[in-house]
Amino acid sequence: MHEDASPEAQRETHRAHGEHHEGAHTDTAATARRAAAHGGPRSGLRLMHVHAHPDDESSKGAASTAMYVDQGAEVHVVTCTGGERGSILNPRMDRPDVLENMTEVRRAEMDAAREILGITQHWLGFVDSGWPDGDPKPPLPEGCFGLVPVEEAAEALVRLIRQVRPHVVTTYDERGGYPHPDHVMCHRVSVAAFEAAGDPDAYPEAGQPWTPSKLYYHHSFNRPRMTAIHEAMLERGLESPWAERLASWEPEPEWDARITTRVPCADYFEVRDRALLAHATQIDPDGHWFAVPMELSQSVWPTEDFERVVDRTGAPLPEDDLFAGVTPDPGAASAQ
Ligand SMILES: [Zn+2]
Repeated sequence: MHEDASPEAQRETHRAHGEHHEGAHTDTAATARRAAAHGGPRSGLRLMHVHAHPDDESSKGAASTAMYVDQGAEVHVVTCTGGERGSILNPRMDRPDVLENMTEVRRAEMDAAREILGITQHWLGFVDSGWPDGDPKPPLPEGCFGLVPVEEAAEALVRLIRQVRPHVVTTYDERGGYPHPDHVMCHRVSVAAFEAAGDPDAYPEAGQPWTPSKLYYHHSFNRPRMTAIHEAMLERGLESPWAERLASWEPEPEWDARITTRVPCADYFEVRDRALLAHATQIDPDGHWFAVPMELSQSVWPTEDFERVVDRTGAPLPEDDLFAGVTPDPGAASAQ
């Protein structure tokens, strides 16, 4: 989750990530959706989201992900770390057996979310840096993602980009969306790999060069959106979960003006919420993520928002589609 509030608030937001397994049921649902979408309007188009932890794919851009899958696009999620140092943020899951097996538990949660969203997911294999708690912040643990040299981590991602050959890549902004060391690192590695993937002189051992057409940063957790939802909650006499957050979040009109692309995907907010809840250790189902009624967020802010950072298509701005201007490959054989 993304924004620019106090460290506590930022940490709090990061907690607003996923709960219980609906594997069997959604497995069928997602398979049916993919089958129905085969040959759909987005066939032959490939999107790659690069995320820091398991659960980030379900809290950022997840509704548009589900929509594009439904329309026949191939959506890949790269998860840089295993989320090994994540805390248990759902009181119901705060049990010794869960804590002892955090890596396995988070893998199982990711399996469930992957089925719900209908994505292909890849682990990049780095180790979670954890949130550095304290003042001053402690040093990052040895061997963690945040300490890997960017060019080394980028090679792993370049290899995947050349294999998957996405037309569109998304990642976090340069502030990481929020300042978790893994999110900032995810940004750096994604930008480096996006640039290197098409360069035959870069990482020659990592596959045939592929130049993606567009790079985006996620901007869905923007202040204007939170303000609009907050005001709509108050108008309806509901308690807003965002009062405190907004009070400590200075307006940043120039930052908000960076949004170029708003993707209408309200019909898929329900899929997003289910994917998020699949990350059972990472979200409290009674927490403020779910305090806003679905139809309110659907009517007040029906889009997920992005900033187009690199464009090789010439598509005019503003846009409402990450694939605007992209032509599917002729023959559209999908590379996996
Ligand atoms: Zn994260």
